[in-house]
Amino acid sequence: MFLPMTKDECDALGWSELDVILLTGDAYVDSSFFGTALIGKYLVYKGFRVGVIAQPDVTSSEDISRLGQPKLFWGVSAGCVDSMVSNYTPLKKRRNEDDLTAGGRNTKRPDRASIVYTNLIRKTFPDGAPVILGGIEASLRRIAHYDYWDDAVRRSILFDAKADAIVYGMGEKTIFELALRIRDGKPWKDLRGICVISDRKFPESIEIPSFEEVSSDKSGYFEMFDLFYQNTDPFTAKALSQKHGDKYLVQNRPQFPLSEQELDDVYNLDFERAAHPLHEKEGHVRALDTIRFSITSHRGCYGECSFCAISAHQGRIVVSRSESSIVKEAETIRDNPGFTGIIHDVGGPTANMYGFECRKKVKSGACRDRRCLFPETCANLKPDHSRQIALLEKIRNIKGVRKVFVASGVRYDLIFADKRNGERYLRELVAHYISGQMKIAPEHTSNHVLMLMGKPGKKDLIRFKEMFDRLNREAGKKQFLTYYFIAAHPGCTEAEMRSCGDFSRQMLKHRPEQVQIFTPTPSTWSTTMYHTGIDPYTGEPLFVEKSPKGKEHQKIMIRGDNRSARPGKKHY
Ligand code: SF4
Repeated sequence: MFLPMTKDECDALGWSELDVILLTGDAYVDSSFFGTALIGKYLVYKGFRVGVIAQPDVTSSEDISRLGQPKLFWGVSAGCVDSMVSNYTPLKKRRNEDDLTAGGRNTKRPDRASIVYTNLIRKTFPDGAPVILGGIEASLRRIAHYDYWDDAVRRSILFDAKADAIVYGMGEKTIFELALRIRDGKPWKDLRGICVISDRKFPESIEIPSFEEVSSDKSGYFEMFDLFYQNTDPFTAKALSQKHGDKYLVQNRPQFPLSEQELDDVYNLDFERAAHPLHEKEGHVRALDTIRFSITSHRGCYGECSFCAISAHQGRIVVSRSESSIVKEAETIRDNPGFTGIIHDVGGPTANMYGFECRKKVKSGACRDRRCLFPETCANLKPDHSRQIALLEKIRNIKGVRKVFVASGVRYDLIFADKRNGERYLRELVAHYISGQMKIAPEHTSNHVLMLMGKPGKKDLIRFKEMFDRLNREAGKKQFLTYYFIAAHPGCTEAEMRSCGDFSRQMLKHRPEQVQIFTPTPSTWSTTMYHTGIDPYTGEPLFVEKSPKGKEHQKIMIRGDNRSARPGKKHY
């Protein structure tokens, strides 16, 4: 069943009014890979009536009024991606294409969509139901944050949007509790996983440097982000308060992750795996090509790459679904009339984190003073790929499934740390779950830049390539590795980019083509380095390439085309 997008569909369901209306900056695709569908379907499963308005016209009140007013609240999300990241390239040029919009043209999502949509609701329904922000844009802009597009520190998005609260992180539990409390007329501002505006600081919270301090002082900004990052674990985090003028942004403690059973319940909801028919005349949603027949096996990531916000959004605790739930989903996919026999991915933020987790972390939270994978894999983690091997085998043996791929990223340090099953896992990938090439993301080869990124060193990369090549020879296959790199990450100089290219050509026998210029997205460590120019390990100044020309130049350097090299440029 699709969530209703029109009054007629509500009538067909016998819903005279809606409890919750969800607004999204993407097309409405009924898939577990789209947060709006996931939250909406979960609330319906729990007994609430939920409708969707996707990509409303913000110049009139027609779209926003289509379903009337919700009884409990509006839920507003910019979509699966921050609207500024969606709408602009790393060099701030407007993107013309959009895989999350029907027809593929980037014309439907306004910049700073969470703010624009909230204004639209307030203008159309003054004094209406509360507006609750959610999704990655609001979640990662929940405290004061550096905004690359303004090149300035912005206030918490809650102040700019003038909404009532933010549900941050993975929202199912929080949004359900919120709906219950609002329905029952109970107070809800103390709920885990939300941010609200208050006249006073929360008594048991940590007060982090104010918006005024962090917008004018980079060391204050660094201190703020460090405190924010240290307080993202549901077991150990404290609430945070941050002064903005004469008010406070209060971030309540994080929500606990779903249990295995709860995760199974969410992913086994009856998703249509298609765009809502209302989008039909607009064209195809390209994102469906990769996600329609893909399966999420787990949530969370303890990789903590500095440029990635998943640890701050999904958390460092990995929760895996049960084998039976995943196999059941694979069988549902098999029975879909459009299925051609290929499951495009079984994975999560990192494919090979499925099926094991540190016992200490699950019981009492992630360590505050060390990381699970960097600089080395923690001895307490005990990686074990056996559950994932068995799971993939079960899926590929389902009658009607011709091929299963693992397209999510693989951490090769985890493969080496699993003495018993690591090599066996890669052997299985080579034999069954890749086709011709395997994509990996070393991101760089300079040990200095890799340390800043929180990624494994180049020795591991060479070791992985050797193992991959050997297993291919043994299997009688000719398959290749494709490498993804980042140019102009904070700390990276032209010289390091050039030597990354040289290393790639000489040691990996590969000419880098997949090179992305670093984008300072909200609330990551790399963005904090970009803005402050501070090395988080030493506290010393850090070189940061900020000019568009210099960034482009780094991209050229790695490819080995240095004809346009700028002579005499100093970096430190
Ligand atoms: S003990 Fe090791 S694996 Fe567990 S949370 Fe701490 S650093 Fe991570």
